[in-house]
Amino acid sequence: MSCIFCRIIKGEIPSFKLFESEKTLAFLDIGPLSQGHALVIPKFHGAKLADIPDDHLSEVLPVLKKIVTASGAVDYNVLQNNGTIAHQEVPHVHFHLIPKPNEKDGLTIGWNSK
Ligand code: 5GP
Ligand code: ZN
Repeated sequence: MSCIFCRIIKGEIPSFKLFESEKTLAFLDIGPLSQGHALVIPKFHGAKLADIPDDHLSEVLPVLKKIVTASGAVDYNVLQNNGTIAHQEVPHVHFHLIPKPNEKDGLTIGWNSK
């Protein structure tokens, strides 16, 4: 299996895991756009949203919410790209959680400060 994210799920490629359940994995992005940039993926391999069964997809939003709450992120973007024209680089469905800096101290996130 050459899919990078399937290899991360199997533990063949190391990652900084934030949450794992039977159907879902959350880990830090290797090229973060901001501190705490996380990826949440269904463990089911599929390139685009429409390829993923509902029972896997329905776990993703609650996991995103858990990560937001646990991290202390205040303002953040949730992004999900489908297809190369839509800027998808890794063809395994993933949701980006990107915390946004605030104007005061540059961070809205405190992984261990709460
Ligand atoms: P896309 O452009 O497909 O929506 O985003 C793919 C994301 O996966 C990028 O933000 C990239 O940094 C991240 N990524 C690619 N390869 C790896 C990897 O091996 N490990 C981790 N943790 N993230 C990766
Ligand atoms: Zn995959």
